[in-house]
Amino acid sequence: MNADYHIHTKLCKHARGEMEEYVEQALRIGLKEIAFTDHIPLPDNFDTAHRMAYHELEGYVNKIQQLQKSYPDIIIKTGIEADFYDGFEDYLYQTLNRFQFDLVIMAVHFVKGWGKSNWAFSYYFPDKSLKQIYSEYLQAVKRGINTGLFNIVGHLDLIKSEDYSVLELNENEVKDILQAAKEQNMAVELNTSGLCKSINEIYPNLNMLPMIAEKDLPITFGSDAHQPERVGFYFNELREDIAVYPSLKYARFENRQINTILQNKIIC
Ligand SMILES: [Zn+2]
Ligand SMILES: [Zn+2]
Repeated sequence: MNADYHIHTKLCKHARGEMEEYVEQALRIGLKEIAFTDHIPLPDNFDTAHRMAYHELEGYVNKIQQLQKSYPDIIIKTGIEADFYDGFEDYLYQTLNRFQFDLVIMAVHFVKGWGKSNWAFSYYFPDKSLKQIYSEYLQAVKRGINTGLFNIVGHLDLIKSEDYSVLELNENEVKDILQAAKEQNMAVELNTSGLCKSINEIYPNLNMLPMIAEKDLPITFGSDAHQPERVGFYFNELREDIAVYPSLKYARFENRQINTILQNKIIC
C-alpha cells in the first residue's frame, strides 16, 4: 500500500503550494494513491483562520474530481479532516453528507472548556496532572469516535508531551478508544507530521502498534502535508517500522466504505 491519506491545500490558509504540486510530488515519489483532507469549515465562525470558508467546500470537492481526471496515473480520493468538538455533531452530520467524500479523518484540535480558544496545543493547567489532561483529551477523542461520523482516527495522541507517552499514563483509556474505533469500523492513522515538530515522533507513538495490531484495527499513513514536498514524508521508514507486525492491515476508503488489505499486497 502506497498511499498518503492526509494532505492539505492552501485553502486552509496555513498550507502552501498548488494542489497540482502535491499530486506531482506524490507521483515523483511513487505513491499510488492520495487523499486530500483539508480542514473542514466549522460553524459559529469557529477557528476561521485555519480553514476554508463554507462556501469554498464545493469548489474544493470539484477541484479534487478535476485533478483525478488530469492525473489518471494516481488515485486521488476526496477526503476531509473534520474536527470533533462537542456540540458540532449535527453540523458535521449535515456537512459530511452534503458532499461525496471518500474518507473523513477525525481530529481533536480543540477540547471544549479548555480556555484560550480551547486549542489543545496550548493548554496550561497548573492544577491538573498530565494524566488528567491526557484523560480529558482522550475522552473527547472517544466521544468523537462514538458519534460514528468519521472513518479514520487522526493523530490520536496529539496531546502528548515529551515527558510521558499517552500509553504510559492512560493505558486503559487508550484500550477503550481502540475498542471504540474497532466497533465503529474505523482505521487508525499513523501520522508522520510529528517528526517535524518539537515532539519529534509519529502520532500515535509506535508503542501503540502492538495494541492496534492485536485489535485488528487497520491503519492509514498520513503525512499531514501542508507543503508539497512533505507528501509521503518518512513513509519508507514507517513501512519498515510496521513490518514487524505482519498482521497489521492497511485501510482503503471509497465513498466512506472501508476495505482492508494486507501489508505485502502491492497495488498496481
Ligand atoms: Zn493544518
Ligand atoms: Zn491535518
